[in-house]
Amino acid sequence: MLPIIAIDGPAGAGKSTVTKLVAARLGLLFLDTGAMYRAIAWLVLEANLALDQEQKIAELVSQAKIVLTGTQVVVNGIDVTGLIRSPAVTSKVSEIAALGVVRVELVKQQQAIGAQGGIVAEGRDMCSYVFPDAQVKIFLTASVQERARRRQMDLVDGRQGEFSLEQLEKSIADRDLIDSTREISPLKKADDAVEIISDNLTIDEVVDRIVRMYQQAIATAHL
Ligand code: C5P
Repeated sequence: MLPIIAIDGPAGAGKSTVTKLVAARLGLLFLDTGAMYRAIAWLVLEANLALDQEQKIAELVSQAKIVLTGTQVVVNGIDVTGLIRSPAVTSKVSEIAALGVVRVELVKQQQAIGAQGGIVAEGRDMCSYVFPDAQVKIFLTASVQERARRRQMDLVDGRQGEFSLEQLEKSIADRDLIDSTREISPLKKADDAVEIISDNLTIDEVVDRIVRMYQQAIATAHL
């Protein structure tokens, strides 16, 4: 099996950017598992389902067809690439991602996508749960202040309206709290993951470091 690079970390740590660049440098596929949870959250909101309607949500998840092509996300034939980044989805996604019925189904799909290896997968439980045998395991993080500052720059670029740093810090901290305290596979650094704190690192420095780790892992595997 080809190697897997697993990258976890809190909201806004730069996982998506780094994952795409690492994948491009190494000729691997990338898997944005947050986009899958966001697509389900979008469907739940569209269907006006409440969080306690677990049976209905379970049906919706089991029937949902999520197709990820590069950065494009299509669910049940609808292109939701932009829609899943809306503030409405962002503020609900963590509660929906905490539901067992949602996680069981999406983890199954993620493991099927990674079954042949050759991917860089990012999310919250890649190292600890979805790909525990990944050859390279990273926990990418940064301070809440730095992550809010980066998110603000992304939102200005994507023209999603203006948010104060305080609002963004709160939204990120709220999401981190739900993600790291949920019962099923909470966000935490896996024991064997290497932590990278990116506050004072450029994107290229982070990418270089992960690429080197991958090359070392491959070299060691061939000894
Ligand atoms: O990575 P992103 O911020 O787009 O993820 C959105 C949300 O999806 C996270 O806040 C988390 O609640 C959920 N998620 C998860 N497990 C993953 C990836 C994302 O619970 N592997």
